[in-house]
Amino acid sequence: MKTYSKKDILDLYNTPLMALIFEAATVHRLHHDPSKIQVSTLISIKTGGCPEDCGYCPQAARYHTAIEKNELMPVSSVINLAKKAKQNGSSRVCMGAAWRNVKEGEDFEKVLEMVRGISHLNMEVCCTLGMITESQALRLAEAGLHYYNHNLDTSEAYYKEIISTRGYEDRLETLKNVNKGALKVCSGGIIGMGERVEDRIEMLMSLLRLDRVPDSVPINALVPVEGTPLATENTVPVWDIIRMIATTRIVMPKTTVRLSAGRTEMSTEAQALCFMAGASSIFTGEKLLTTPNPGEDKDAEMFSILGLIPTENTKENSDKFKIRKPILKNDTAVKWTRPGHTIERNVKATKQAKALRKNQK
Ligand code: SF4
Repeated sequence: MKTYSKKDILDLYNTPLMALIFEAATVHRLHHDPSKIQVSTLISIKTGGCPEDCGYCPQAARYHTAIEKNELMPVSSVINLAKKAKQNGSSRVCMGAAWRNVKEGEDFEKVLEMVRGISHLNMEVCCTLGMITESQALRLAEAGLHYYNHNLDTSEAYYKEIISTRGYEDRLETLKNVNKGALKVCSGGIIGMGERVEDRIEMLMSLLRLDRVPDSVPINALVPVEGTPLATENTVPVWDIIRMIATTRIVMPKTTVRLSAGRTEMSTEAQALCFMAGASSIFTGEKLLTTPNPGEDKDAEMFSILGLIPTENTKENSDKFKIRKPILKNDTAVKWTRPGHTIERNVKATKQAKALRKNQK
């Protein structure tokens, strides 16, 4: 695989848009069927009350958002939602839990049961549960999990502006554990959080430097949510999303590039350019964890207009599911960090949200 310097990727990102899309579309066609889009469903299996302080996330307990805290969903409810998603055309389910890290115990056993159940439905299964150890990754793989999602979000330098309760090195450590645990890595980022273009490029560099290039990269556009520190950020221009998708496609030709959060702000035309530029998956359903998403009907209409076909089931992608041989070793003691630096604007936005709620009473 070609190696890229930061300058190479930056130059790519800044290529005149039509030329960039053409190049990305060419690469996409060499490695993927451009008429197929993988339709995924995201199920929030445990919502809200998260101890972390990700500045974009309404599920962080410390922010004053409209999200209610829920306990882990029953296994049967999750399986039923997965069955429904399959009937509605999804071939992939991603389960998200608002946890800092996975703790051994009853809840983790239930998640393993959910993974087993969804895997038996012949659907691709992914989880995003926070930081995990190598042995937890291995147990998830044994239960039938295909991918583990853990986004790098942004560059290492900008990460400190967005999250203070864990460090970038914790993210990288979990991704290492995912790789060693024989799972495929799903990791991407969010654009529109006030970062520079260089931060977007550095995030791609970090992904390229992982032990294996991620098989799945979600590209999200920030959905500003009232009560979170990033509530007042401007909507990211659609051209930036297209550039980010095209650049990701070129530097990671075989990866599934997922056009993720932020689609409600995008027209069908804009999404069409994203597919042309190499996006090969979307999340469907009314909600993406807690933020709005176009409904299934709208997506079906878009697919019909654009002549796109959802990938049907895991058989179609069966080569993707060959679980790699795990690298077994004893788990080292968990050493997740808490950098604890202060994020000035988190404090400011929290105060603003509190004042707003007080005035509303
Ligand atoms: S993004 Fe995840 S870890 Fe961060 S606050 Fe939200 S639920 Fe917690």
